[in-house]
Amino acid sequence: MKKYFIRKLFRSAFLMAGAMFFSISFVKAQTKAEIESAIKEAYEKFKDLKEGKNADYIKELATVDPNIFGIAVVTTDGQVITLGDIKSMVSIQSVSKVFTMAKVLEEQGPQAIQDKIGVDATGLRFNSIVAVELQKGKEINPLVNPGAIASSSLIGGADSAAKMKNIMDIHSAFAGRELSLNWPVYVSEAGDNLRNQAIAHLLKAYGRMYFDPVQATDIYTKQCAINVNAKDLAVMAGTLANGGVNPVTKKKVVSPSTVMYTLPVMVTAGLYDNAGIWLFNTGLPAKSGVGGGLLAVVPGKFGIAVVSPPLDAAGNSVKAQKVIAYVVDKLKLNPYLITPKN
Ligand code: GLN
Repeated sequence: MKKYFIRKLFRSAFLMAGAMFFSISFVKAQTKAEIESAIKEAYEKFKDLKEGKNADYIKELATVDPNIFGIAVVTTDGQVITLGDIKSMVSIQSVSKVFTMAKVLEEQGPQAIQDKIGVDATGLRFNSIVAVELQKGKEINPLVNPGAIASSSLIGGADSAAKMKNIMDIHSAFAGRELSLNWPVYVSEAGDNLRNQAIAHLLKAYGRMYFDPVQATDIYTKQCAINVNAKDLAVMAGTLANGGVNPVTKKKVVSPSTVMYTLPVMVTAGLYDNAGIWLFNTGLPAKSGVGGGLLAVVPGKFGIAVVSPPLDAAGNSVKAQKVIAYVVDKLKLNPYLITPKN
């Protein structure tokens, strides 16, 4: 009898050690030196690239220095690695859609997002009105303008100011510092956002807008004008990579379940109508904004972000896409790159 128990004890100790070894080797983190050298190579390779053009449909964005080029990585164990310009601030634009969606998920759960907005790719431009019309306001997602304005309408808060505060607070918690608005960018877009207002009204007509459409569009326009640098975006991505706990402040921002439901929408629609090409090349959830920011999440390992304002035709930063794809390739981060067992 005693022998049996000893044998059993040895067996479970052996199994546990095996499992530990497996999980350690499975999530083996890249060393700081490996990450540093990969981003340095990418920086050098792409720093002189002149492709793409600043967004100009928001007039203020056309005046931003196109040479801003910063890269940052924040690992789930809290290491911050940066290169290039991380001082210059740009407006977060559509990257904000991720964090407002995450807060709505946190407050109302995944079913509400599914039922009230949708989680399917439109396959069309981020500000497509046709996308709303085609499905009568359904089957859109929180990472294109219609779904994002709907998210801003759903977020907790009795009035416009309370909703805006809620949005500022969640962005600041993700970034680990108090963020603020770029007023010139807000004023510039707010004076010229009839298209987004049309989208909000069309959603209202289909019963898919959950607050006053003019005010919801205004809240959305303000959230797009939050100022960030590459490091802020990387901390935000690092918080997602770390299951909702900010790896720098160590504070819980959202639950692991919220992250679990946020990342797939980033996979589906994070780079809009180019989400497929992005996924094909990197395999990672990511989000871009027309301010030139782009962040990607390597689940369990790190967040990476690049700021470089010139965009491609879909509205995604050209250099940022190239840098992140290079680092993913170099460090073998694509989760679909599977090493056969034998
Ligand atoms: N504020 C911008 C808009 O609504 C955001 C778009 C973007 O970053 N793709 O058009």
